[in-house]
Amino acid sequence: MALESPGCEPVVLDLGTGLRRFGQTLPQDGSFRGHAFVTHLHWDHVQGLPFFTPVLVPGARLDVYAPPPQAGVSVSDAFHDFMRPPYFPVRPCDLHGEVVFHDVADCELQLGSARVVVRSVPHVGPTNGYRIEMGGASVVYVSDHQQPCDGTDRIDEAVLDLCRGADLLIHDAQFTEPELARKRDWGHCTLEYAVHVAATAGVRRLALFHHDPARSDEAVDRLLPGARELGRERGLDEVLAAAEGLTICLSPSSPSPPPWPPWPPSSSSSSSGVRPKASRTA
Ligand SMILES: [Zn+2]
Ligand SMILES: [Zn+2]
Repeated sequence: MALESPGCEPVVLDLGTGLRRFGQTLPQDGSFRGHAFVTHLHWDHVQGLPFFTPVLVPGARLDVYAPPPQAGVSVSDAFHDFMRPPYFPVRPCDLHGEVVFHDVADCELQLGSARVVVRSVPHVGPTNGYRIEMGGASVVYVSDHQQPCDGTDRIDEAVLDLCRGADLLIHDAQFTEPELARKRDWGHCTLEYAVHVAATAGVRRLALFHHDPARSDEAVDRLLPGARELGRERGLDEVLAAAEGLTICLSPSSPSPPPWPPWPPSSSSSSSGVRPKASRTA
């Protein structure tokens, strides 16, 4: 997933397998500068780093922000622990470009004209959600979100704080209700809960994300109408299913997106773009 806006360095959300494809669109000559906000260190969120070709060149720089996994262990320590032989032949320090790791939790950052709000969110282990405001649009990324295990629809205050009034929320939607009943404490939530979070926070557009690894694209499409109907009832402008290669354009000059475009939505050009990829893992 990546956010791009004129005049801003690109912002990557997590370092999953989609990073390889996005990297092909960026400078390969060492001039790359960018930022990656990693929600947590589970495999599906970090394994794309060594395949991100813009940072495999001297002169390039990628700043990586993530929550430290435990007291006394930095994000840099963690990356050097899991990205090394025999698990992988290349260590972070072997990449020819510069990768700079930052420990972040419950803070706010200013990256040029972009503002980033960081909040801890419920999942399995330390996990961040991010709100990025750039190019006049606000995008919130809560990729993995444990909904309450007690059957209530309570929403964590930090999540609401992040999401309030966002133009686009990219949110965990791994389970159906029956699946959640069997996997209640697996760290994820239902499509219905994702809609509930978006509606309660006054979000305009919701991108359902982190689809269950066992779910085919066709099965995702079959679940979408129900989520869209619920979103319509709850006052959302749009509910869509994130998919690899999808581009969403957000413009501060257009106050409301067209109502309920046909599925799949088509791309258009505007001031800032979001490129979600479907996540198929835990
Ligand atoms: Zn996870
Ligand atoms: Zn995950």
